[in-house]
Amino acid sequence: MPGFELIGDLERKEVNDVLDNGVFMRYGFDGMRNGHWKAKELEAEIGKQLQSKHVQLVSNGTAAVTVALAASGVGAGDEVIMPTFTFVASFESIMILGGVPVLVDIDDTLGLDPKAVEAAITPKTKAIMVVQMCGSMGRMGELKAIAEKHNLLLIEDACQAIGATYNGKPLGSIGDVGCFSFDFVKTITSAEGGAVITNNEDFYVNADHYTDHGHDHVGNDRGAETHPFLGYNFRISELHAAVGLAQARRLPEFLSIQEKNFMIIREALAEIPEVTFRTVPEGGVENYGFLSFFLPDLETTNKVAAAFKDSGVDACFHYYNNNWHYIRRWDHLKELKSLFPISKEVKDGLAYLKTAEYPQSDDYIARNISCLIKLSWTEEQVKERAAKMVEAIKSSL
Ligand SMILES: *Cc1c(COP(=O)(O)O)cnc(C)c1O
Repeated sequence: MPGFELIGDLERKEVNDVLDNGVFMRYGFDGMRNGHWKAKELEAEIGKQLQSKHVQLVSNGTAAVTVALAASGVGAGDEVIMPTFTFVASFESIMILGGVPVLVDIDDTLGLDPKAVEAAITPKTKAIMVVQMCGSMGRMGELKAIAEKHNLLLIEDACQAIGATYNGKPLGSIGDVGCFSFDFVKTITSAEGGAVITNNEDFYVNADHYTDHGHDHVGNDRGAETHPFLGYNFRISELHAAVGLAQARRLPEFLSIQEKNFMIIREALAEIPEVTFRTVPEGGVENYGFLSFFLPDLETTNKVAAAFKDSGVDACFHYYNNNWHYIRRWDHLKELKSLFPISKEVKDGLAYLKTAEYPQSDDYIARNISCLIKLSWTEEQVKERAAKMVEAIKSSL
């Protein structure tokens, strides 16, 4: 997945354009910038590649999720359904807006289980947030139908799945708003950065203003702009956008390298009857940033994870004990540890989390290993790695 492996002359050239004129701000300073608008160019590039009418760059992926929610009107007391397997950013973004995260089970796709989603809907539910973990997706057809049936927003956190598609449409463009991260370890990186994409004109205008203190961006004089509503600063800088621009242009190349490396390892593991792969819904195409598979039980999975370590197979994750990605170890969130007071409404809304059990999610995550697919491996290295993985798994069964 990581574009940082292939940083080079293309990124350097874009950054130098910015350094040469010294305009790090994405808005204004027209006279100084010699025609360089890296953030605008990157927005156009992403819009083209992700078939989306509107793109708003932001300072990071967590900001993207926050802005997606804010721009579509999610706020105080609103319940947002999200999966147990995710990144803490989903939870944090809902909380910062005064909403209530409602965690529900995942299924064999490692995405939201449609049945669990439907069962969690209450009169307070405002949005369903799907998180497209490890380069793939949940059952998007069913999830979208549930959102439509109940008149709920569908927010897509596609931070880990840029370039994956469902029925030919890029992930992120299927829901009402899609979110991407360009942090250091994502498929394309801008060092720090993110994007919100949408085909909804109103949500886009909201995102455009909200990310820049409510500035309406009308005219050329920032001092004279009006502020239709409260905003914040979630801006990206021109320097970050410059790195992201070079990387975004290389996305098709990165995806094809990932697919090639992924297939070599997948074919090798498919020889082992005890290994099953994560389900990709019909019509779905992964971005091949990770290879996710299941083993028969927790004990075997623990053994395999240890055997991978011993044989130098790095960048494989067993999320069961991970405290960034899975509810089981989110003690600080279960206990609602916050620097500042949290409203009674949110506290009450989250009371369920202290005792909530997720046996279905536990079962999938306990048996899952997800391995990062790197861009810099030679074919020989991938084959060697695949052989080591097969050996480590067979010796653990
Ligand atoms: C990385 C990531 C984010 C947050 O992105 P940052 O740029 O690191 O803030 C949000 N959601 C998911 C699923 C991610 O993987």
